[in-house]
Amino acid sequence: MTTDRLEHYRAKRDFTRTSEPPGARKDARNGNAYLIQRHEARNLHFDFRLEHEGVLKSWAIPRGPSMDPGDKRLAVRTEDHPIEYGAFEGSIPKGQYGGGTVMLWDEGTWEPVEDPDEGFREGKLKFVIHGKRLNGGFALVRLRSDTGRKQGKENWLLIKEKDEHARPGEGGDLVESQLTSIHSGLEMEEIAEQQPEWHSNESVEANVKRLKSAKRVAAARRSPRARSPSPRKAERKATAAKKKRKRKSSS
Ligand code: MN
Repeated sequence: MTTDRLEHYRAKRDFTRTSEPPGARKDARNGNAYLIQRHEARNLHFDFRLEHEGVLKSWAIPRGPSMDPGDKRLAVRTEDHPIEYGAFEGSIPKGQYGGGTVMLWDEGTWEPVEDPDEGFREGKLKFVIHGKRLNGGFALVRLRSDTGRKQGKENWLLIKEKDEHARPGEGGDLVESQLTSIHSGLEMEEIAEQQPEWHSNESVEANVKRLKSAKRVAAARRSPRARSPSPRKAERKATAAKKKRKRKSSS
């Protein structure tokens, strides 16, 4: 296949101005990553992504996923995204395509139940998700009415299958109750404030490098060792203080 799967993605973005990765051209791997990014752009939505043949197949779900089989959620098919974008959490500058805050809301792997190529083509994909917030069987079904397709947007439904992970009657609560990043533990506002910005006066390489180093700094900050002395050290300190008090009271 010679067509570039990410052609549409690239066409919409100017990579001298945005921190989103440009994406590998070749199918670098054949992984099965699954992820959801909570995206506060002009309208809040949840970007549902399944890795397939070197790209992230993508749908924007305005109301987010539900664990209730009776609660079907509209999922608007969007352009394939590069695998690297699946690790992105941070801010896209205002005025740029998708400008706003992006939170990694769920991550894991997915497994097709039937032939996935046929599923994507026929508009009926059955699969199992192994995520941190979503689990079990799901289906993505393209709607027959093609009012959306005429505008280049396909309307699908994300439907939870009936299984032991289903939560009839309360599956819709997930989106409202889980408000932190599965990756960093941060809330949307914190992500917008704390994640590094892209500087358009620097090269793409320099920006990617800076994002990576910012990630390392954040990881070091989160590690308990960097924040407080080791438990043993703290224990020694406490014992010394006790001895000191004892000496004081006996003198
Ligand atoms: Mn989005």
